[in-house]
Amino acid sequence: MADSNKNNGGVRQFVDNFDASIAAAFGALVKATKAAGRLGDDIAFHRTLDESVDTRLAQASQRTLSMANQLWTTISRTPADASASAISSADDIAQQTAAGTWTSGPQFSLVTDAVDTLLERIDMGLDAVSKTPAHHLRSTQSAVGMQSAAVVTSVARSDVRVVHAQNMPRPQLQFKDQVDNSPSTPFAWRIRAKPHARVPLDYGLPSAQVAGSTLGQHLQTLGISRPGSGAATPVQRRSGSPEINASQLADALGHAVALPHPYEYEITHYEAPSRLFEEAPAQEPGAWDATPFAFVDTEAALGAMLSHLAGAPEIAIDLEHHNFRSFQGFTCLIQISTRTHDFVVDALALRDSLHRLNNVTADPQVIKVFHGAESDIVWLQRDFGVYVVGLFDTYHASHVLNMEHHSLAHLLHVFCAYDADKKYQLADWRIRPIPAEMMRYARADTHFLLYIFDRMRNDLMKRGTQLVGEDVATPGLPHFGMLAGGIDRVQSA
Ligand code: AMP
Ligand code: MN
Ligand code: ZN
Repeated sequence: MADSNKNNGGVRQFVDNFDASIAAAFGALVKATKAAGRLGDDIAFHRTLDESVDTRLAQASQRTLSMANQLWTTISRTPADASASAISSADDIAQQTAAGTWTSGPQFSLVTDAVDTLLERIDMGLDAVSKTPAHHLRSTQSAVGMQSAAVVTSVARSDVRVVHAQNMPRPQLQFKDQVDNSPSTPFAWRIRAKPHARVPLDYGLPSAQVAGSTLGQHLQTLGISRPGSGAATPVQRRSGSPEINASQLADALGHAVALPHPYEYEITHYEAPSRLFEEAPAQEPGAWDATPFAFVDTEAALGAMLSHLAGAPEIAIDLEHHNFRSFQGFTCLIQISTRTHDFVVDALALRDSLHRLNNVTADPQVIKVFHGAESDIVWLQRDFGVYVVGLFDTYHASHVLNMEHHSLAHLLHVFCAYDADKKYQLADWRIRPIPAEMMRYARADTHFLLYIFDRMRNDLMKRGTQLVGEDVATPGLPHFGMLAGGIDRVQSA
């Protein structure tokens, strides 16, 4: 208590004499840098030469460390952040390898995170004091309970339209799940239930309790009960099912590694519905203004959308993602179209509920049409625990059909005579409420896609006989085999 009062007093003094304090602090910084420079590289040698040097260096290190921790506590967003992450030695930040090179220590991200947070606050502070220029639009409400509204700037050039938010509070601060950027955390399922399962969620995991091992504890933390451990739900294992050896789930040090993909069995044993291989007339997309549209940002709206999706034989899906100055990034929007409706889902507001989409996305009878799904699949799995069983990718179809270009814009042009405005591809999709032009762009990414799917599927059928025996799996495109229902090679019937 006394300590924090003292600190507050210090802060007040600093603020009250701001210019002088900054000058003094800068002077001290220059002095410290020069002194450190004069010490040279061989500190260990100097320490052995003179005991007092050793003692004073140790004291200085301790003071620096304690100041760094104080700084971190002041900057960190929550008390939990602060207490979870004290720096105990310089090795936590940077470590020298035997070869003399430096690598980051286990707490290095604290420093980058703290600097990031500081710069963001400076940015917001500057925004607050500078007068808002006329071309700024002020956003009025927030979908994820942000305290301050974003200043949305729109810079129009001939070819690009960069829409970005200047003082956007970070939406990830509102996520219930803490974003974990550390490379050592093993992948864990975000789902506890597995709709349309052909094998249980823990299929392939070792059947016996891995007592006492790191893996056993890891599974327990995740709430994954093991058969034979007195668990409530016994696992029905198919005879002859491959059982993943416990050693595959733990590295050499016994640290748990990633769990297997929850839908691996369903995807690798996928059989497409037979209707997919029957030619059918292409269904024209609904007129834009006559198509019912919903922005889905509440549980109720999500429920209504899922009820609507339940009857659809095929749906179009696209995602918008944010990863500018963000390590992993996060999904901001999910666009979904059926033959009759368009939806844009606020993936920030509904992040924790979107696993409910598995009722549709994991249903092998429902064809999910994406354009270039490589990233989308990863983002769905990572952010929501949403898995796709039954994928048709129009990007890959455009390759099989030897089309001249493979972008969605090209397909829209060729099949729909619609000229997509791809200027918004790099817009800041965190902005809420979403400006009308951006919403229109997002919606257009799926609105026409089922019609494009119809056209391409029919073209593929026509070309089917030509393709018999041809190897259509494009190397390096992992989802490609899904195109024709899990086959990599086109076979005659
Ligand atoms: P799209 O499928 O074109 O709607 O793109 C989905 C997301 O991918 C966008 O929201 C961006 O985050 C990212 N993205 C698309 N194109 C690019 C690009 N050229 N450079 C960087 N990111 C991109
Ligand atoms: Mn996309
Ligand atoms: Zn898109």
